[in-house]
Amino acid sequence: MGQPVAGNPSQFMMERAFAAAGLEWRYLTLEVSPENLPAAVAGMKAMGFRGGNFTIPHKVAVIPHLKRLSEAAELMGAVNCIFAEEDGFVGENTDGKGFVSALKEVIEPEGKKVVLFGAGGAARAIAVELGLNKAAAVDIVNRDAGRGRDLAKLLSERVGIQSKWIPWNGQHELAEDADIVINGTSIGLCDSTAMVPVDPSTFRESMVVADVIFNPPMTPFLQAAQDKGCRNIDGLGMLVNQGVIGFKIWTGIDPDPGVMREALEEYLGI
Ligand code: NDP
Repeated sequence: MGQPVAGNPSQFMMERAFAAAGLEWRYLTLEVSPENLPAAVAGMKAMGFRGGNFTIPHKVAVIPHLKRLSEAAELMGAVNCIFAEEDGFVGENTDGKGFVSALKEVIEPEGKKVVLFGAGGAARAIAVELGLNKAAAVDIVNRDAGRGRDLAKLLSERVGIQSKWIPWNGQHELAEDADIVINGTSIGLCDSTAMVPVDPSTFRESMVVADVIFNPPMTPFLQAAQDKGCRNIDGLGMLVNQGVIGFKIWTGIDPDPGVMREALEEYLGI
């Protein structure tokens, strides 16, 4: 559920994965306005939905309608995935988990120094999950001081990892000892030529560089990093893996991530 949801690729991806697993299940894309959210969640319960995903603008507003939250969702203060238990829905956040599982295909986050651009919903989910996976430090580079400081405080005081907010003035110069660099902002969402303000000469071959933007998956940010020899993780990896986690939560079955990525590429015309 979200608003707007036109063009959201999740239904196409999930229904391909259901079919590949031999499940006659449906995943519906539902346009729900904020005032209809309580009735819509009650309707899901009444109609026996096994669970669902929530996107903008419902990720925070859905919380009062749930029975309880997972540790990660509670720390993030946002829910993008719910699943049914006998007496109500449980709120989970699979965005950060999806990111970390894509990351782990390339590098283990434990003990690593991370530079994260952004402090919005996606960045918060990624940062908390990196903390829960024992990253050594996560530096938050964000334009807005309030959001940047809040996230750094959450990480150091509640998740228990080193974190600080770094103001974003002009082209950011990456610290030489950064292991993982992530664009968690929406830069590039509506303009595929938009470049994250980072000094490209400060990318080093040893860095793993990731982007949350998935359409198109090779962003100018990832291209600049690749040109310097960095290993890349695109936004499709996060999208597929959050879908894999949701699928497993609802059905108890491990889906085929290859089928899901292919479906996304077909839907997005990549
Ligand atoms: P939010 O609106 O919550 O946060 C946006 C963030 O981007 C803020 O930190 C904002 O900074 C920053 N930002 C936006 N424009 C600029 C700019 N011009 N310069 C510097 N910073 C900027 O959005 P979300 O966190 O929910 O989503 C972010 C992106 O992640 C979206 O593009 C979304 O599509 C993508 N996403 C991808 C997923 C995937 O599976 N691949 C899953 C979820 C999201 P400030 O605080 O200073 O305003």
